[in-house]
Amino acid sequence: MVKAVVGANWGDEGKGKITDMLSKEADIIVRFQGGANAGHTIVNDYGKFALHTLPSGVFYNHTTSIIGNGVALNIPVLFKEIQEIVDRNVPMPKILVSDRAQMVMPYHILFDEYEEERLAGKSFGSTKSGIAPFYSDKYAKIGFQVAELFDEAALKEKLQRVIVQKNVLLEHLYHKPLLEVDALFDTLMEYKKMVEPYVCDVSAYLYQAIQDGKNILLEGQLGSLKDPDHGIYPMVTSSSTLAAYGAIGAGIPPYEIQKIITVVKAYSSAVGAGAFVSEIFGDEAEELRKRGGDGGEYGATTGRPRRMGWFDCVASRYGCRIQGTTDVAFTVLDVLGYLDEIPVCVGYEIDGQVTTDFPTTGKLEKAKPVLEKLPGWKTDIRGITRYEDLPENCRKYIEFIEERIGFPITMVSNGPGRKDIIYR
Ligand code: GDP
Repeated sequence: MVKAVVGANWGDEGKGKITDMLSKEADIIVRFQGGANAGHTIVNDYGKFALHTLPSGVFYNHTTSIIGNGVALNIPVLFKEIQEIVDRNVPMPKILVSDRAQMVMPYHILFDEYEEERLAGKSFGSTKSGIAPFYSDKYAKIGFQVAELFDEAALKEKLQRVIVQKNVLLEHLYHKPLLEVDALFDTLMEYKKMVEPYVCDVSAYLYQAIQDGKNILLEGQLGSLKDPDHGIYPMVTSSSTLAAYGAIGAGIPPYEIQKIITVVKAYSSAVGAGAFVSEIFGDEAEELRKRGGDGGEYGATTGRPRRMGWFDCVASRYGCRIQGTTDVAFTVLDVLGYLDEIPVCVGYEIDGQVTTDFPTTGKLEKAKPVLEKLPGWKTDIRGITRYEDLPENCRKYIEFIEERIGFPITMVSNGPGRKDIIYR
């Protein structure tokens, strides 16, 4: 059985926690897109961890963690992350890296920095991890697959070819130091040494695993609204954040993905630029930011404060639909326990018309939130394990949102830990 864990919103919904929790029953956890640009925060028996590249299943002994072909693989970051968890007494995880995964090259990170510098105030708010230059090169067919590390002559020849183009940009657009083939080649040979023991024909491995009836989890990064096709283009990420892409980024048949668990956060947060209709500001935002997540809503990779907002039914309904949701995991609900009343965005007003359909970017920028207020529950709901034991107003909030988004909330997360979960 293959399940996907993906986000309905702008990312940071708590996918890491849900994946870590579901990994107990899983044999294999696969990252299928994205890179080290976003992070998952996980709290478990070993402590609190921020993972960027490793799948959130690495904390169990029985699981195999896979970096799929769809990932932007930063080899030194991956190995630093492995070292960090091993240093904190987590047993060495079993890791496989797809031979078709492409590598983030040192110059991708440089180009990311230089481009942000060039765009100055008009930048996209990149985390400067090289992700956009990486995917641009992948689709321009000048990227490097892991498998290419093992043919040194061909690798050197290709580097020479690719660098010519890069150096034109470095010299004339960015006015920065030029790249040298030998230095890059040496770096790639270092990468080869690190990654060699883990390289695997992942799609063949997963094909067999599916035949053998293994439980496989596909772990998404970011959320629906950051998808390059279906999100708030151009303020999106560079790889698809949708469960459907899990089939491609892992190399499995699409019909094998039987459960799509979409993680939806009980309020909104976003990083980077772009329209954010239910956004709140000032003290109201600061209060929610401070109380949010586990220790505040600050980026796991960058530490930057996240933008905050009330729950957005329009965006979440769309986000769940485009994922093909079978189950909703509704997270960080405990955080809202301080509010007397909880505003929820139930519609968008665009040019005087109210809609519940999520629009394209131009219209989205004009949208004003239509808010409805629900009564708060004013208690701490952490530790509660049965749905019936939640305060009535809390259940009403869940049921209101379930109706508006139109997909079943089968899990409610009321704390950052593995056990903080209520099944319905
Ligand atoms: P991801 O990228 O979707 O995995 O999300 P992040 O890790 O960036 O953000 C989720 C944050 O919320 C992390 O700090 C989690 O530990 C925390 N978290 C997850 N679920 C809950 C929950 O139900 N309650 C609280 N208070 N924190 C949670």
